[in-house]
Amino acid sequence: MKVVVLAGGTGAAKFVRGLVRAIDPRDLSVIVNTGDDLVWWGLHVSPDLDTICYELGGLLDRQRGWGRLEETFHCRDAMRALGQASWFNVGDRDLSTHLFRTERLRAGVPLSEVTAALCARWGIASRILPMTDARVRTIVTMDDGDVPFQEFFVRRRHTGAVHAVRFEGASTAQPAPGVIDAIHHAAIVVIAPSNPVTSVGPILGVLGMTEALSTTSARTVAISPVVGSAAVSGPAARLMATRGWPTTAAGVAMAYRSFLDVLLCDVGDAALAGDIEKLDVHPVFTNILMSDTSMAEHLAKETLDAGAH
Ligand code: GDP
Repeated sequence: MKVVVLAGGTGAAKFVRGLVRAIDPRDLSVIVNTGDDLVWWGLHVSPDLDTICYELGGLLDRQRGWGRLEETFHCRDAMRALGQASWFNVGDRDLSTHLFRTERLRAGVPLSEVTAALCARWGIASRILPMTDARVRTIVTMDDGDVPFQEFFVRRRHTGAVHAVRFEGASTAQPAPGVIDAIHHAAIVVIAPSNPVTSVGPILGVLGMTEALSTTSARTVAISPVVGSAAVSGPAARLMATRGWPTTAAGVAMAYRSFLDVLLCDVGDAALAGDIEKLDVHPVFTNILMSDTSMAEHLAKETLDAGAH
């Protein structure tokens, strides 16, 4: 049974950690947000792709939720001593990924092929696809103007009023090779518990994506990243408000309503059943917190069950 996951970074990594314990990893394709990508010290960094690859390659520092195991930060410290920007944390091992990627991209190799090469080196059996090989940039409009996503998220620690979020380049970006095909050949498409605005939003913004999700015969199942009226972590709820969506699981259903069949919501949110059903989405109430790997595996199995009905 082929499974496709639309993924951001940390929330999605926790979910796929459980999923590859529930299915054959070779049956999994992960389509990953690249709107967060940035050029840092002249290098192309793809934070969400790296988080998913590191997770599936057994390289992720799960404590932090990003970056590599047994990491050191000597280069960052030395750059800081040179008076260079050091607010974005690139570790020494992590640096090798960005050096490799940047060198290949400069040689004209598309991001999807560079990612496949990295996955092969790391022995990853699943297919990890960037949403597009084109450049898409998530831009956040704040009181003092437009800032790229990482500037908002990391440098400003997602504080400050957000007025709008847009995905530059998305509407003309072609999906990466294999993306649309994977969606059409899947039995289940899962929208990971990722930020609906800045992690899943850019993926849905790529040309033809929502059409593929609406026309596939696969069941589409999302896991809410929101419990009650707050995100499990990060600024998802606040960003959802900028779209005019309720900052609850019902707002997540609203974000995905054009293609979504089932939404897994927290068991404490059962009072939202009517609101979600009104959007033509079937809610399933369960424990959606992944405090450890066995809970993530349990959630993955429930997601597969929900998609099978
Ligand atoms: P980012 O690019 O690192 O922000 O990655 P994601 O968008 O994939 O992950 C962040 C989202 O994951 C946040 O909106 C969180 O609310 C959500 N999240 C984190 N841990 C959990 C969890 O255990 N369960 C659920 N349901 N959502 C989670």
